[in-house]
Amino acid sequence: MSDKNWAGNYQYSARIVRPRDLDDLREIVTRAPKIRALGSRHSFNDLADADAAGVLVSTADLPSEIRIDAESRTVAVGGGVRYGDLTRDLQSAGWALHNLASLPHISVAGAIATATHGSGDRNGNLSTAVAGMRILTASGEFVDLVRGDPELAGAAVSLGALGVVTQVTLDILPTFDVRQRLFGGVQWDVVLDRFDAVTSAAYSVSLFTTWDEDTVALAWLKELDGAETTIGDDFFGAPALTEPRHMIPTMDARNTTQQLGVVGPWSERLAHFRFEFTPSNGAEIQSEYLVPRAQAVDAIRAVRELAPVIAPVLQISEIRTVASDDLWLSSAYGTDVVGFHFTWLRDQAGVEAVLPALEAALLPLGARPHWGKLYLDEDAVVPGLYPRLDDFRALAERFDPEGAFRNAFLTRLLGSV
Ligand SMILES: Cc1cc2nc3c(=O)[nH]c(=O)nc-3n(C[C@H](O)[C@H](O)[C@H](O)COP(=O)(O)OP(=O)(O)OC[C@H]3O[C@@H](n4cnc5c(N)ncnc54)[C@H](O)[C@@H]3O)c2cc1C
Repeated sequence: MSDKNWAGNYQYSARIVRPRDLDDLREIVTRAPKIRALGSRHSFNDLADADAAGVLVSTADLPSEIRIDAESRTVAVGGGVRYGDLTRDLQSAGWALHNLASLPHISVAGAIATATHGSGDRNGNLSTAVAGMRILTASGEFVDLVRGDPELAGAAVSLGALGVVTQVTLDILPTFDVRQRLFGGVQWDVVLDRFDAVTSAAYSVSLFTTWDEDTVALAWLKELDGAETTIGDDFFGAPALTEPRHMIPTMDARNTTQQLGVVGPWSERLAHFRFEFTPSNGAEIQSEYLVPRAQAVDAIRAVRELAPVIAPVLQISEIRTVASDDLWLSSAYGTDVVGFHFTWLRDQAGVEAVLPALEAALLPLGARPHWGKLYLDEDAVVPGLYPRLDDFRALAERFDPEGAFRNAFLTRLLGSV
């Protein structure tokens, strides 16, 4: 049975199977000529798919063990475990992750495979917390990579090209408390002239806009409890909101994590959305472009000029920051970046019609598209944006010499085996 992704905008070509243990998984992986791992299906393109004769192996029913090692300050988790389950266990044991994506429903292995990130000038993406991985290769071998192995920096953001990640070890830190405050209507001039001051004002800062407004609609701050702050009841002149809000004004704030400055655990504040609220699918498509921080202000100006072009299909945009890292296929490889995220209407043709203009503005600035979101890259700019791509290609060929995990997406990026 083939099926769709979470957003419903992509129909997988390959048959989906759901092994319940690692022996089953190993048998499936070694038998199938073409295979891909499927996490919680939250990507928006053909990245996870295999061709029609292939097999998609869902990690949803695989062992979901969560093992905390206080001494090494790490946690080992099954690749299919969702962040919402992991954060609950970590918090009850007094531990934390450094950051989360907006949604806690995504799987750990799927998130790190695509360099999924939250926000915060000093926060690396979720893949930067990877301290080790266990990968089942097409030959049926389990390969362990640990910190110190030079290949870990290549494998952390794997795009599923190396094998099925059955276990991930992540760095943890002592639990901490956070409060969220939202501020309405930040002047564009403030964002353009004082960008660094705006994004460094809290542990995590997100700006929400539809680009055509007189002011940036919303600044969403996640502040560490007890941290010094210069932000009082206003944020660069924008007043603190006194009612909870969803980032899309017409949607119910009930689904969002607690706001209004109420202090509480990181596990219930760092994601924008609550884990208890489980959307089975979403009426949206997403794209995101990670622009080198030095180009962020130019990128904001460029996207504002495109506001009338993108408005018919845009629900909301989020601007957030991610710290530089050294992971070969990370969108923050070698540079701090600013994410330009677009939540579109679920109108595939409409979105694909506006992406060329957006990419013509952003890709020349060095923007790297989010691997798991919709992008076109008609001029094949993207491979040139990754200095370690050749090393990654060699790593993938060593792990998977027959190309069992090489799908159409990876063939566009890396060529065929
Ligand atoms: C509502 C929503 C909110 C989102 N918010 C954010 C956000 O805040 N920040 C952000 O950066 N992104 C965000 N994303 C994007 C999302 O984090 C990525 O698309 C991520 O890859 C999804 O993980 P998944 O488990 O659903 O992966 P899937 O879509 O199932 O797969 C994605 C890739 O991961 C690989 N993969 C999955 N599991 C394994 C495994 N065990 N072993 C090897 N490879 C594997 C697949 O082969 C595929 O290549 C969001 C997406 C949605 C739908």
